[in-house]
Amino acid sequence: MTTTNIPRGKYHIWTVGCQMNQADSQRIQAILEDLGWEETGMDQANLVVLNTCSVRQAPEEKAHNLLAQLKRVKEKRDDLLVALMGCMIGKQKTIDELSKRYPHIDLFMKVEQADILPRFLEERWTPISGAGCLDIEFMDNEQPAATPVAPAQITPTFATSFNRTGKRTVLPMAIVPKPGERVAHYPTNIPPQAHAKPTAWLPIVLGCNKVCTYCIVPYRRGRERSRPIDELMVEARTLVDKGAKELTLLGQTIEAYGLDLPGQPNLADLMESLSEIEGLKRIRFMTSYPRHMTDDMIRRMAAMPKVCEHLNIPVQAGHNDTLKRMKRGYTIEEYCERIDRVRELWPKASLSTDIIVGFCGETEEEFQTTLDMLAKIRFDVVHVAAYSVRPGTVAARWEDDIPLAEKKRRLHAVEEQQARIALEINQPLVGSIEEVMVEEINTSRGLQQWKGRNRTNKLVFFPAPDDRDIKPGDLVNVRIERATAWSLQGCAVAEPSFT
Ligand code: SF4
Repeated sequence: MTTTNIPRGKYHIWTVGCQMNQADSQRIQAILEDLGWEETGMDQANLVVLNTCSVRQAPEEKAHNLLAQLKRVKEKRDDLLVALMGCMIGKQKTIDELSKRYPHIDLFMKVEQADILPRFLEERWTPISGAGCLDIEFMDNEQPAATPVAPAQITPTFATSFNRTGKRTVLPMAIVPKPGERVAHYPTNIPPQAHAKPTAWLPIVLGCNKVCTYCIVPYRRGRERSRPIDELMVEARTLVDKGAKELTLLGQTIEAYGLDLPGQPNLADLMESLSEIEGLKRIRFMTSYPRHMTDDMIRRMAAMPKVCEHLNIPVQAGHNDTLKRMKRGYTIEEYCERIDRVRELWPKASLSTDIIVGFCGETEEEFQTTLDMLAKIRFDVVHVAAYSVRPGTVAARWEDDIPLAEKKRRLHAVEEQQARIALEINQPLVGSIEEVMVEEINTSRGLQQWKGRNRTNKLVFFPAPDDRDIKPGDLVNVRIERATAWSLQGCAVAEPSFT
């Protein structure tokens, strides 16, 4: 554990959004636990971190609701700090607006700057009575005070707040990185004693250089920055030492990995290095972007035993006019050509994709073309979402002209078609033996089952009898007895063994 003068407190991290956000929260948690802080519920925490998502409207609204609730709680609590991170934080203008609307936010933190979280706590948090916290209900109904709040003395990145009651013991001190302090990279502080789950995330390229017209990510996460291989190797080894057996490499367009690094190592180079790590059993990766994927990369991935046979390659739409308005950067013919190539070079790979229905101006003909394309390609999994406007994007300037009811109809049409296709793909797996990485026990609906994934990323459930010594992280052979569109069910078999 890090030696620190920071009094210990309790934290709560609220996370919504994609795997990158989950990975970021995992990292913040590691830093806090290294400081001796203890995880607790939101109502008891001294530090509440909201890790937000702006890709869709619903999670952003949830964050605003929580911020409003925390504002009321903070008026009564002297020992509560609120930090905001994730996609709701973008350029300085966004931070300024949020800071004005929610002066009780103590810290706006981009994950690249999480290294200075200990300094923030050192300078800003003082427990008023040991490490305890006041017993105030989180969900109170009291209205906020009408008194105007003193303007915060802030630096560009870190906001400070004053308690409305004037009782705060923390210093309204702004924190700025010291000269030479590393803030431009991803924090690599993974404390050695922290425990890793068998399946862990490893962000390898941050940000995105694309300009999809509906997407807020490039505005909020910045341009692509790849992390050097040696830095990633250190982190991967640490995660494996702590118990990780499977690493999922993360990036918005993961095949862009290395384009900004000296010598331009690519994703396959990184995977070859990671494959050398003893104790690491599986490597996964997401999200793919067709234009960065080369034949050589696919060939090499297919030849690496630890790399699992699954790619998530979002297509978003099947009609060229829609793709053009989305500025996806490829035609549907180019996309299909890439899919054909992947299937030729890596026949065992399963494929999933993302679709947006009801994007601005999407005609019935365009939608039907998308449906036909999905029926032709036959993905294993399709993640479908109805378009919602994201303020600040290019598409936000256009008319959101597809009524919600029509968006829902299109969404259900995709779901229904995909359920049929997925069942047809999964059914032939009945009778096969699948290598499953056990993730956790599933006790929902009174069941006692192990839950895991096979190499092609399909969910597999099998009974968890007392007489077999199985634990999360084990690779278990499961004979598949039943298949649905969404999962496989089976029984653990003794032979052959993959462990
Ligand atoms: S590729 Fe497009 S959709 Fe994906 S993160 Fe980048 S801008 Fe957003």
